[in-house]
Amino acid sequence: MYSIKTAAVIGSGVMGAQIAAHLASCGIKVWLLDLKKDQGPQLASQALGNLKKIKPLPFYTSECLALITPGTLEENLEEAAQSDWLIEAIVEQVEPKIQLLKKIEKWAGSKTLVSTNTSGIPLQILAAQLNPSLQARFLGTHFFNPPRYLRLVEVIKGPQTSTETYKCLVACLENQLGKTVVEAHDIPCFIANRLGVFCLVHTLQLTLKYGHTLEEMDVLTGSLMGRPKTGTFKLADLVGIDTLLHILDNLVSTLPAQESEAFKRPDVLTQMVNQGLLGKKSKKGFYKKEGEQTWTLDLCSLNYRPFCKANIENLSALFKITDSRNRLKALPELTGQVGCSIQELLAGQLHYAFSLSPKLSKDILAVDEAMKLGFGWEWGPFEIADILGKTTLQQLLEKFDLGLPDWMQNAEFPLIQTQPNHYLPLSYTGTRLSLKPRGFNLFLHKKHHTAIWKNTSASLWDTGEDVALLEFHSKMNTQDLASLQAIQDAIQTSAQNFLGLVIANQAQHFCAGANLGMILIDAANGEYENIRHALKMFQKATLAIKYSPIPVVVSTQGLTLGGGCEIAMHSPRLLASPETYAGLVEAGVGLLPAGGGLKELALRVYRDIHPSYLLARLIEIFKLCATAQVAGSAHEAIKWGLFPEGTRIASNEATRLSQALAEVKALATGGYRPTSQTAPVPVLGKTGLAALEIGIQHMHEGGYASSHDVCIAQAIARVLTGGEVSEGTLVTEKQFLEKEQEEFLTLAGMPKTLARIEYMLKKGKPLRN
Ligand code: NAD
Repeated sequence: MYSIKTAAVIGSGVMGAQIAAHLASCGIKVWLLDLKKDQGPQLASQALGNLKKIKPLPFYTSECLALITPGTLEENLEEAAQSDWLIEAIVEQVEPKIQLLKKIEKWAGSKTLVSTNTSGIPLQILAAQLNPSLQARFLGTHFFNPPRYLRLVEVIKGPQTSTETYKCLVACLENQLGKTVVEAHDIPCFIANRLGVFCLVHTLQLTLKYGHTLEEMDVLTGSLMGRPKTGTFKLADLVGIDTLLHILDNLVSTLPAQESEAFKRPDVLTQMVNQGLLGKKSKKGFYKKEGEQTWTLDLCSLNYRPFCKANIENLSALFKITDSRNRLKALPELTGQVGCSIQELLAGQLHYAFSLSPKLSKDILAVDEAMKLGFGWEWGPFEIADILGKTTLQQLLEKFDLGLPDWMQNAEFPLIQTQPNHYLPLSYTGTRLSLKPRGFNLFLHKKHHTAIWKNTSASLWDTGEDVALLEFHSKMNTQDLASLQAIQDAIQTSAQNFLGLVIANQAQHFCAGANLGMILIDAANGEYENIRHALKMFQKATLAIKYSPIPVVVSTQGLTLGGGCEIAMHSPRLLASPETYAGLVEAGVGLLPAGGGLKELALRVYRDIHPSYLLARLIEIFKLCATAQVAGSAHEAIKWGLFPEGTRIASNEATRLSQALAEVKALATGGYRPTSQTAPVPVLGKTGLAALEIGIQHMHEGGYASSHDVCIAQAIARVLTGGEVSEGTLVTEKQFLEKEQEEFLTLAGMPKTLARIEYMLKKGKPLRN
């Protein structure tokens, strides 16, 4: 088996171009090919140029794009076909795909693997046209949109796909591209689209039956049910109504008559497409936006009316239930017409998933995983069954003359049982399977173990591998006195009983920063000594990490902001998911990084940068902090200098924690020496401060910085330069930390800072006052 080093993506549309960008992000050299145009810029070149305009960005850093070579099928296929992997991502129609695969067959290298990104065309239809040698190297790799961010890739074996081909591409998808692979059976639309499209059409039918507005149905099928906030119709607009019709038509033409009934085009969709209401791509679909005004389609008249926030009786009580599982459990109890429609929706969709599941996948975990990672559901259908419990589920189904399918009739609930480090899902034959997760799984570990100790914001776990793990679990994992104390205690406990410590969690975000509510209360009450105490705790915690006597590996993912970024910056070894969004963003709430973040940046610059480049580099890091920039990937955080050069990348989320444990063990057994005390550094002092001041004034005069932005920027500048001292003055780590504290306390006393914090807490976005 070999790793994939070169690839060619054919079709540079929505998916092809973004898949190419993701491959390049992961270090693979890629050809991006499309049809040749007689004149004007070629399609693939245009698509490559447009990648930088896509939001969110489809690549880790723009430098990656240099690995993509655009070309045309006519001129470059012969050369591109020698790549390790060819991905077909052209229009979702059988004939063009077959024509292209025949061309590929002619040119493909003898070891080249070929895959199709079809959303739903059965592989057997495409494979049947290929010679046996290529059939063995052909399979389906169904990426989801946007391919960088949606972790799911459904892999579908064709009738003759060799085991070697399958293993090689799965290894590439998991280890190189960081994807979660779900093996799907070769049936039309595979797992996620098959169930997702069913749910969409079913929801549309019930919307008409119960006379709900689109806004109402989007609320009912959004976070209330553990699905994305977009609900059903905003999602349909994103997918494209015409695309939806193509998928429905494909399903109807490939499924037996009885099964295809559920996928017959609803008239309203055909009418919408006839009128050009294609969704987001034509700027009008179920919804359209004109300036600030959103309009909603009336399904009967197909005219638009102003968007009207759904006001559904009975639901406010449900939304007050903060635990989403308990909210789900309350749905079967809901009374009135809304209760009836949501119950019919849930019953119909669960029944369809349960009945079809044996055809879709090898096991029920694959179905749950596909719906969670492909459609953003909080739980898959089988997890929902377990949350509701067998009796409630059966009653719910019976209410609509539905029942459990035969294979589930005698099932013992919960359907998904666990053991330490194993899932034991019910199999389709009624026995239990034993499936091991790919890496150390904290969720599973927690189910079967008790923490060594815990407080309100953090827990320390014995991982069973001679390494302890400190998990934050406050809201968004924000830092407070309890979690900061836990960091120090965890290092102490680990030093006595373990090889080292991992600071990590498996939540969506590593840490969204300090607990602002705590700062706001103290600042509003003038309790500055409390704030000073918290800052000292913070600095002690980050120093404890930096100078720990045992290896400490911090592992990050998702938002790693403010205090979270500072914790990461102090780790003797940092292990970051590529999808880490790090930044010292305190300026956004009127403050500055004072957990050692500015200190650490300053020390690194003065220690590592040649004097000729010192000022230029200082200006760069100053801008990062003064404008509260957030890196779009771990790679960008390293490029910006927020994360140290030696940061390791954990390419796959499922194995990130295992990798962190292995890093600790490797450090511990490789003669780990604690970081030695940082020597004082010569600062730029007044000279640097004057240069930064000029920049700040320009920003202010140009209207880019408010007067409060100026105050904050000046405070940051004073810390980074060492303040009003002569150039070359030696400044110690301790002095930098004291300066951080002093400037932070001054800013915390300003009314405009309080207004910023309050606004952030209320609205979740920064106030520019
Ligand atoms: P698209 O229409 O955006 O792009 C298709 C590209 O293929 C175009 O650039 C077109 O010029 C090119 N093309 C068309 N016919 C060709 C041919 N005969 N030879 C070479 N190139 C040709 O389509 P898309 O949305 O990128 O979808 C591509 C594939 O990915 C489809 O199979 C689709 O079902 C699948 N897919 C799409 C999504 C999505 O959200 N768009 C998600 C998952 C899978």
